[in-house]
Amino acid sequence: MSSLFPTYSRLPLELVSGNGTIVEDHNGKSYLDFISGIAVCNLGHAPEEVKKAIETQLQSIWHVSNLFTISNQEKAAELLVANSSADAVFFCNSGAEANEAAIKLARKHTGKSTIISFKQSFHGRTFATMSATGQEKIHGGFGPLLPSFDYLPYNDIEAVEGIGGEDIAAIIVEVIQGEGGVNPGTQSFLQAVEQKCKQLGALLIVDEVQTGIGRTGLPFAYQHYSISPDIITTAKGLGSGFPVGAMLGKADLIPSFSAGVHGSTFGGNPLAMAAAQATLETIFQEEFLQEVKQKAEAFLGNIKEKLKTVPSVKEVRGKGFLIGIELETEVKHLLDQLREEGLLALSAGPRVIRLLPPLTVTEEELQEASEKLLKVLGVSSNKSQYV
Ligand SMILES: *Cc1c(COP(=O)(O)O)cnc(C)c1O
Repeated sequence: MSSLFPTYSRLPLELVSGNGTIVEDHNGKSYLDFISGIAVCNLGHAPEEVKKAIETQLQSIWHVSNLFTISNQEKAAELLVANSSADAVFFCNSGAEANEAAIKLARKHTGKSTIISFKQSFHGRTFATMSATGQEKIHGGFGPLLPSFDYLPYNDIEAVEGIGGEDIAAIIVEVIQGEGGVNPGTQSFLQAVEQKCKQLGALLIVDEVQTGIGRTGLPFAYQHYSISPDIITTAKGLGSGFPVGAMLGKADLIPSFSAGVHGSTFGGNPLAMAAAQATLETIFQEEFLQEVKQKAEAFLGNIKEKLKTVPSVKEVRGKGFLIGIELETEVKHLLDQLREEGLLALSAGPRVIRLLPPLTVTEEELQEASEKLLKVLGVSSNKSQYV
């Protein structure tokens, strides 16, 4: 019997090594990893530049408290600020903690309480972020949630325009819902959310824990839309696998997070910052992101075209390398078949196959993955036309 709480339904499969897009299991079988640790390994497994940065840091100092100056924390923050609408960064260790900081800052700064979020959203598992998550299955059994959290239907402009009241501190939104089924927000919906925040004196929090750090072909996914969030949260791809999260905010919020107001023992420690700095220096290069965009558009276009005539496929959607294939049926058995074929993919809800390859995936690997996918989804295999 395992000595672990069974909080995850684990596969009886151990991945023992990884390099780039390829991982190998304990039996020596290799796979194309289109899960990437759930949008974490954006540079693939064991990326050289990040490995070097962590190794170098290991030789000098591992951990110091935030009571001291940490110069690579400053540098990682500068990179995040230079590539977003934000002016200051607070580092923590996970996505939930980044959202927790955002919710605390929004209440502290506005002096108001209500946090509005959307149905099918996912913001984390702590009490505040669970309360912000618009999915009953996440809430079940945990007793009263935090007060003053409200949920509206996603992509529903009328619902947003109908928001009223004095007490609204913030609206928190994913520009593409990840866990909720790979649901892209529309331009007009996201602009309505921003407009409403302005009108109410509420803060716009964009949760980029999954969509940030180049995943969609831009530093942050909100940059595909003409909006300028007050707060951006990110985590998954930030440290290439080293646990780290960040909350970014605009300049006017800085006085509300003064010394002693919020903190974290581990947040932004030198090892995590070595990983984050090297990751950001690589991903936030224009040519790197341009290539991600091109590869991803070609891949998405190709599978859309190929799956058009498959009756069980309802829709193929997404942005960059966050791709969802919605089926008429449950997808669990298909994920098992894909794994048999050597392709690791994920679900997003019961009926959506989610693909999250490393941003460094090669054209050949994309070709190979699309062939496996088409085979499992029952498309006759006259060689894929991809590339
Ligand atoms: C994964 C995720 C979180 C939670 O991040 P953790 O690191 O697991 O706490 C929050 N928001 C979104 C959009 C996510 O995808």
